[in-house]
Amino acid sequence: MKYDAENVFAKIIRDEAPAHRVYEDDSTLAFMDIMPQVDGHTLVIPKCPAVDIFDVPAEMLTRTIAVTQRVAVAVRSAFSADGVMVAQLSGAAAGQTVFHLHFHVLPRHAGIDFRLHAKDVAPEAVLAEHAERIRQALPAD
Ligand code: AMP
Repeated sequence: MKYDAENVFAKIIRDEAPAHRVYEDDSTLAFMDIMPQVDGHTLVIPKCPAVDIFDVPAEMLTRTIAVTQRVAVAVRSAFSADGVMVAQLSGAAAGQTVFHLHFHVLPRHAGIDFRLHAKDVAPEAVLAEHAERIRQALPAD
């Protein structure tokens, strides 16, 4: 699949679409999933155009997964999670719905199930509060 520069994550990177950002540097961005499957569901993306795991230079993938680890640390702390799930879907057959590479970071609590994937948009105020909690919990550089 050819990269579509008009996909919603590309627009978020260019600040043409809104997002509750939790972390940003020259090459990566992390923001709240607007249809969270659990409270605190965060996405981490490289800023370079990459459709999926097969389409990203190794160096950018390395940077993105390092930021994913930092975000996972923050999410675990901010939501007092028992565990953290990191997921990456490549290809429609795998369930990918936005065709810009991203890692899902989901705090998990024993006995609490997921909500449905990409279904219910969370209220802005809730996403803003969760983003603030994660920003506060990010480890120092
Ligand atoms: P995937 O199915 O792995 O491609 O995941 C795409 C994710 O992006 C889903 O969890 C959606 O809820 C989420 N999503 C879609 N549009 C937006 C958006 N504008 N801002 C934040 N998250 C989004």
